Amino acid sequence: MTAELIDGKAFSATLKQDIAKQVTVLKEKHNLIPGLAVVIVGEDPASQIYVRNKNISTKEAGMNSFEHRLPEETTEEDLLALVEKLNNDPAVNGILVQLPLPKHINESAVINAISPAKDVDGFHVINSGLLATGGDAIVPCTPLGCLLMLKDKLGNMSGLDAVVIGRSNIVGKPMAQLLLNESCTVTIAHSRTRNLPEVVGRADIVVAAVGRPEIIKGDWIKEGATVIDVGINRVPKDDGKSRIVGDVEFDEAVKKAGAITPVPGGVGPMTIACLLKNTVTATCRQAGIDEPDV
Ligand code: NDP
Repeated sequence: MTAELIDGKAFSATLKQDIAKQVTVLKEKHNLIPGLAVVIVGEDPASQIYVRNKNISTKEAGMNSFEHRLPEETTEEDLLALVEKLNNDPAVNGILVQLPLPKHINESAVINAISPAKDVDGFHVINSGLLATGGDAIVPCTPLGCLLMLKDKLGNMSGLDAVVIGRSNIVGKPMAQLLLNESCTVTIAHSRTRNLPEVVGRADIVVAAVGRPEIIKGDWIKEGATVIDVGINRVPKDDGKSRIVGDVEFDEAVKKAGAITPVPGGVGPMTIACLLKNTVTATCRQAGIDEPDV
């Protein structure tokens, strides 16, 4: 068997087009332009690239993008003051503080200072609590993107066995919660899990969010399973350059899986599209209107 490729690039392009149409309706019918504020502290090169891409995508969707670039030595107090200002700014519907923050700043204090209604990353404790209790949460972008791809591929997932490898607050835990909400039987695996091959081998759905290159071996995968690879790992090549690989041993996994996301070109592009989606959701909820049907 050769797995079908789940094309996150194509999926996210369609999603972004739909979001741009929603933004047009919001402007024309409600005189609203969704606004996303992105705050970056310091010079982390990967974060700089993420923020640049978020800024471009936000503008392409017809939304307002407000960038706040702060120096590495910014104090927690100053950052909290900026968050407060953005919380109170009616032109700003979504606030994203790019992580990681410099060591001297308490990340959870900053995340939890963002108004939950504007928390488009979905990391605020109120949003994780709402997700866990079946409320109207803003869902973290990466797991939301994974869920959309899974739903598109599988439709009804009720009763399927799902394993999520990784239990971070930003990917693993919310992913497991989303799958549970879809009535999957969910196992969360992590670094202390015993017999990972066996746990992976019984899953109809595998979501790998570990951050270790190709740690999930292809021959562990159950025949026909759907595999979502969240991992982004840079590994050296023979020519001294580097390439990006996922957490799943792709070349072997395609022989067993029914469908699989490539890395790059799978989950990554969906994350930014879901950030835009969350910004539209937040804007509509703040205005007390339904999200436009497009
Ligand atoms: P974290 O480092 O926060 O979490 C990694 C998880 O993997 C932990 O729960 C850890 O377990 C678990 N783990 C580590 N080693 C093993 C092992 N040997 N066996 C089983 N589980 C293990 O990472 P994130 O959740 O933030 O990110 C995971 C990956 O996803 C990274 O590669 C990251 O770059 C990528 N990512 C991609 C995004 C995208 O847009 N495509 C967005 C966000 C992340 P324990 O808790 O026990 O330590």
